[in-house]
Amino acid sequence: MNRKRILVTGGAGFIGSHLCEKLLEQGNDVVCMDNLFTGQKDNIRHLMENPYFEFIRHDVLEDVYVECDQIYNLACPASPIHYQYDPIKTGKTSIIGALHTLGLAKRCHARILQASTSEVYGDPEIHPQPESYRGCVNPNGVRSCYDEGKRMAETLFFDYHRQHGVDIKVIRIFNTYGPRMRSDDGRVVSNFIVQALRGDDITIYGDGKQTRSFCYVDDLVAGMIRMMNSRADFTGPVNLGNPGEFTMLQLAKLVIEMTGSGSKLVHLQLPQDDPAQRKPVIELAEKELDWRPSVSLEEGLEKTIAYFKERIC
Ligand code: NAD
Ligand code: UDP
Repeated sequence: MNRKRILVTGGAGFIGSHLCEKLLEQGNDVVCMDNLFTGQKDNIRHLMENPYFEFIRHDVLEDVYVECDQIYNLACPASPIHYQYDPIKTGKTSIIGALHTLGLAKRCHARILQASTSEVYGDPEIHPQPESYRGCVNPNGVRSCYDEGKRMAETLFFDYHRQHGVDIKVIRIFNTYGPRMRSDDGRVVSNFIVQALRGDDITIYGDGKQTRSFCYVDDLVAGMIRMMNSRADFTGPVNLGNPGEFTMLQLAKLVIEMTGSGSKLVHLQLPQDDPAQRKPVIELAEKELDWRPSVSLEEGLEKTIAYFKERIC
């Protein structure tokens, strides 16, 4: 009776595949829509036999017609190397993808959740970052296609809510990691683990003193589902992330220690507009969703290292 039909755009990606899995476990009917740009069929292969799971290869730049009760909009490349590969398409995916999924939510009277990002804060001057901080974003740099695309998507979500009464939820995801990241993903956790396991040099960009807060994917997915099912008048935006804060040098040393690797650290140029610091204030999520992450960086890395070990050793 309580089975909901749920559309997950970007469902064959890293976070999306974990979300589809959890929603199926909870007894829902899940439609996964993905153009497989960075997503992979392997991420959802184990779900294909489930009669309540459907995969549709579709680009959210095209109109989306699916009957559903809830929509999680995750379609968008997330790693800097992937979103900078075709920056014009990245901007379109965020903006046109938001318009198409919001239009669908309006027609179906579905509740819709946007996977926004800590990148809306840019290179933050306020630390840690609460939701009330409006950010410090370069509008025309190499990261702008992603940052400004996601900011415009948030604007569209709130305008559809104000103008058409669409039932929206907006989460701002901070750096999330775990099994099913791609080994060629380019993001720091997968890069360091893969480099350590292969005995390659660990590539530290800049002096390695920049900080990030790393959330294990299971914690994030639990928060996403709580947000989707939260009280109707709570739209967010709400930060979802783990407030533990680490420099990239600390992360590299931890990965080397945990893998027993002989890899050496090398310093490469810091990419343009790379944020110097990032850490979420999660008081709002704690209060409204009764959510906080429970997986420590060591525990999460252990599971992620095990995943990559099976694939690349
Ligand atoms: P990912 O690249 O693994 O997943 C993105 C998915 O979207 C992929 O399966 C990709 O093929 C699909 N996609 C891309 N463009 C599409 C299009 N035009 N039409 C249909 N599908 C398309 O990345 P992820 O880490 O799983 O990120 C998922 C979402 O969460 C993204 O929206 C990302 O911006 C957001 N997010 C992630 C993080 C993080 O740390 N992982 C942080 C902040 C926000
Ligand atoms: N980084 C690094 N070496 C790598 C990949 C990334 O030092 O091989 C740094 C990067 O410069 C950034 C941080 O790690 O400061 C996180 O990068 P990632 O691409 O994972 O996420 P984002 O910058 O989007 O938070």
